[in-house]
Amino acid sequence: MDTRAPANPPLIDRFGRHVTYVRLSVTDRCDFRCVYCMNEQMTFLPKARILTLEEMALIGRAFVELGVTKLRITGGEPLVRQNVLSLFAELGKLPGLKELTLTTNGSQLARHAAALREAGVRRINVSLDSLRPERFRAISRVGSLDKVLEGIEAARRAGFEAIKLNAVPMRGINDDEILDLVEFAAERDFTVCFIEEMPLGEIEGHDRRTSCVPSDEVRARISERYTLLPTVERTGGPARYERIAETGTLVGFISPHSHNFCDSCNRVRVTTEGRLLLCLGQEHSVDLRRVLRTHPGELEPLKEAIVAAMAIKPKGHEFDLTAKPVLFRHMNATGG
Ligand code: SAM
Ligand code: SF4
Repeated sequence: MDTRAPANPPLIDRFGRHVTYVRLSVTDRCDFRCVYCMNEQMTFLPKARILTLEEMALIGRAFVELGVTKLRITGGEPLVRQNVLSLFAELGKLPGLKELTLTTNGSQLARHAAALREAGVRRINVSLDSLRPERFRAISRVGSLDKVLEGIEAARRAGFEAIKLNAVPMRGINDDEILDLVEFAAERDFTVCFIEEMPLGEIEGHDRRTSCVPSDEVRARISERYTLLPTVERTGGPARYERIAETGTLVGFISPHSHNFCDSCNRVRVTTEGRLLLCLGQEHSVDLRRVLRTHPGELEPLKEAIVAAMAIKPKGHEFDLTAKPVLFRHMNATGG
């Protein structure tokens, strides 16, 4: 029997979890300053520390050759990165990649929706925390709801197969809009997903201990008006879904606190600096930028580093909203 490892071993970690999904952050910058994500005054990374789009394309290729089937482009706000469409076009051509997708705040989507669709993006996630202009501005600190709604309309016209809205419900801030957001999604045949706030980085003037709304509470509020039916449908990420009987709308819940999903984790992240993060809630990482800059343009050293990294993927996160955040990186620097 040949006991040698295959030339391209699949990405399986110590706990038998198969990594098939990579979230690639193309920038830590953003045109919003959402209260749960960032501080109002942020220092962003200098250009020299950020990967070029060519380096990111090579990382994407390495992962896909190692068996990854889903790539999500994220940030910061991915659509503020100059020329980012060229990266989508490059990644969209990779044989073996089943899904290329993005998470966006929607502010630049009106300009880019059609080109994204052409580059092979079939489904997108747009973050939307409020449907009230002034409140939207207060949550994002600088964003315009009109621009985002325009972006969402452009995405509908561009013919994406699925549009998912992401919302972070916060107590006393936007939790009275849960049903409005569900209705907005239902009217447009979108999916809506509610995310429990995670303790990534400290935010001045924002207390996550009091603002985080558990998924069960969100579910209970939706059940006051609709019938939620269980479904086993998944979209390849951490969200668990239920379907609204009356409208057919799929409602997702990402519940790192109330329903830990680490056992079935299939994901890793690459920050815009090229740090391969093995877990959203831990600091275990490998410096892919060093590999890339020691062996420019070479795929094999990159693949070796990625395979070796599987040995340090931790069992799970240890998020604790009652303690001071142990992670200093904010979500925008993590690749949410
Ligand atoms: N800028 C894009 C956007 O807002 O969609 C992409 C990056 S953003 C970091 C990705 C997702 O992470 C968004 O849906 C956002 O609401 C969510 N997010 C940011 N900070 C979070 C936190 N501390 N806890 C939970 N979700 C968070
Ligand atoms: Fe920007 Fe997205 Fe963070 Fe909001 S959640 S500040 S849009 S990166």
